[in-house]
Amino acid sequence: MKKLEDYVVSIPDFPKAGIIFRDVTSIISDKDGLKLAIDSLVDNVKDLDFDIVIGPESRGFIFGMPVAYNLGKAFVPVRKQGKLPREVISREYDLEYGSAIIEMHKDAIKPGDKVVIIDDLIATGGTIEAIIKMVEELGGEVVGISFVMELKGLNGRDKLKGYNVTSSIAYE
Ligand code: 5GP
Repeated sequence: MKKLEDYVVSIPDFPKAGIIFRDVTSIISDKDGLKLAIDSLVDNVKDLDFDIVIGPESRGFIFGMPVAYNLGKAFVPVRKQGKLPREVISREYDLEYGSAIIEMHKDAIKPGDKVVIIDDLIATGGTIEAIIKMVEELGGEVVGISFVMELKGLNGRDKLKGYNVTSSIAYE
């Protein structure tokens, strides 16, 4: 029986020299890999008390939505700037080179809502830190954050201190 990590294909020098890219499309293009990944995320968060799963564009949609559906929760997308049609809250955050702006619908999180954030992978933690700030600005509470993969060497957890963070696979 294959384990979840057996489905990850690691690509050296993508998107640029020196980076080892961990591909998740190789997990979900296999029906057993897909099931292992979603079951594992569901397991990571199923005992938490929450109402909403938040997933950032675009791999957070792939993994967040089935977790929400499985656990009977709502799903709220975080999108790149300019995609959402109604009033948004925005946040700019640093990328390795330059910066990015992500957005959520303002009315998607109500004061007191408890949320879990799901994404495919944590690298520096910048994306999730920006989402946490938006959720908290709207009065929501982040009760859990879960990833399929964690790149430990980039110390993303340092940005998420004090939060309940889990990952299914960790790379040193
Ligand atoms: P962070 O904000 O934690 O630095 O970056 C995390 C984001 O970058 C995630 O949304 C993830 O999709 C993407 N990312 C960075 N490195 C990789 C990688 O090796 N594999 C995959 N699948 N995504 C990556």
